[in-house]
Amino acid sequence: MIEPMPIAPIRVFNTMSQSKEEFKPLRASQVSIYVCGPTVYDFIHIGNARTFTVFDTVVRFLSFVGYEVNYVRNYTDVDDKIIQAAMRMGERPLALAERFIEAFEEDAAHLKLLVPRVAPRVSMHMEEIIEMVGVLEAKGFAYASGGDVYFSVSSYPGYAELSKRELKEMRAGERIAVTEQKREPLDFALWKAAKPGEPSWPSPWGPGRPGWHIECSAMSAKYLGETFDIHGGGGDLIFPHHENELAQSQAASGKPLCNYWMHCGFLDLAGAKMSKSLGNTIGLRDALSRVDADSLRFFFLSTHYRNPLKFSDKSLGDAQARIGYFYESLQLLETLALPPTTEEPKAERPYLEEFQTAMCDDFNTASALAVLSELFNEVNLLGRKHLPHKANAKTWARLSHLRSQAKAMGKILGLFEEEPSVWLDRRKQALIAARKVDVLKIEELVALRQKAREAKDFAQADVLRRELGELGVELRDTPKGPEWKLV
Ligand code: AMP
Ligand code: ZN
Repeated sequence: MIEPMPIAPIRVFNTMSQSKEEFKPLRASQVSIYVCGPTVYDFIHIGNARTFTVFDTVVRFLSFVGYEVNYVRNYTDVDDKIIQAAMRMGERPLALAERFIEAFEEDAAHLKLLVPRVAPRVSMHMEEIIEMVGVLEAKGFAYASGGDVYFSVSSYPGYAELSKRELKEMRAGERIAVTEQKREPLDFALWKAAKPGEPSWPSPWGPGRPGWHIECSAMSAKYLGETFDIHGGGGDLIFPHHENELAQSQAASGKPLCNYWMHCGFLDLAGAKMSKSLGNTIGLRDALSRVDADSLRFFFLSTHYRNPLKFSDKSLGDAQARIGYFYESLQLLETLALPPTTEEPKAERPYLEEFQTAMCDDFNTASALAVLSELFNEVNLLGRKHLPHKANAKTWARLSHLRSQAKAMGKILGLFEEEPSVWLDRRKQALIAARKVDVLKIEELVALRQKAREAKDFAQADVLRRELGELGVELRDTPKGPEWKLV
């Protein structure tokens, strides 16, 4: 197998070392990555979608440079929130979870998220979970108490190494009721005894269900092995979820859980992290009814993944305008009907290399998108000024080369899966409907202007162009005749 050849060493910011490290996967041409997936008790919001889009883009880039990517993203389908939602709705918890898994998969496809190689569910991995809890108990890292099983934090020396918290301060901060089954306040549940009406599974400690964190330890070990390359999720998972996963997995196997921890920054709305508990969420479905998937992905990827990203209608509108410009540029390349060429393109800016260099630097999609924008600026400059009449073979070759580079970058970012004409037409129809535009009147004015031009009455043609401008219409003369759009 040919070894992957990224343009530069890939550097990843590792939450564990708090620094950028050169990415060296365990196997030369394979990457194993586990991303904590949704807790399926509701439709996801765009904060969740940001994190999933970021890791989707990481997977796409690693695949592009030649790695075989073993991508696992789980579903948490057994959880307190699911049980509470099911009680409110009078539904069985697993049936409710199933419904929201289906909804998530529809939405994920709409957002162009790649389907992971495995998307394991907690409810289908009880055997592995129970086995791991048993190992932890046998090794003295866990203790049973009244039908529950707890992880003993003080038995594991490296606890809090990921979140860099001070155990003493954490202990002082905990206020736990005296009736608690735990020996120490920081101990956390690996297994919870069944309560009436809750889903439960038989176990050596009696009927019950897993605690929140053990699922990811058990499922990552099953599908990626005891040690894998990248573990990802949103920044809110660092503590306690990933800290606890780390302690459980490493206590059970005696090996490192993963080599790189990656965490995505929060999507904020109204000055706070978007979250269901604060009630400041925008559903992914709602967002995708306002803008298309490319625009939403552009919005997510326009900021480096580790930085916070503020949601506003304006930033979403700006993203849509940029994507509109990209599709118009691709459309221009289509209308030029570039002939096949054997001519070598002129040695000019190597956009795809610059793009990859940005991505190699801790997946800097913000810089990568800037490179893509500059590529399209060149497309417009060359395409509109020099074509179709004055083009020579070298310009054709350059434009062909720019088009293939744009397509490659689009593939990495999950953009441009649609035909430009389809995207642009849909956008146009949406604007026509939103502004209640009189299309017949516009087309009549466009035709009159064209007649005036053909009759070389340029003064009248200009008057008509201005009149169209006042209606919010921008005209463009293409080799196929005049085209108009709403601005
Ligand atoms: P959950 O379904 O709550 O487990 O969340 C699914 C994923 O979305 C996790 O990786 C979370 O860390 C992530 N997440 C939740 N809220 C946000 C947010 N506001 N911004 C970015 N990621 C988030
Ligand atoms: Zn997890």
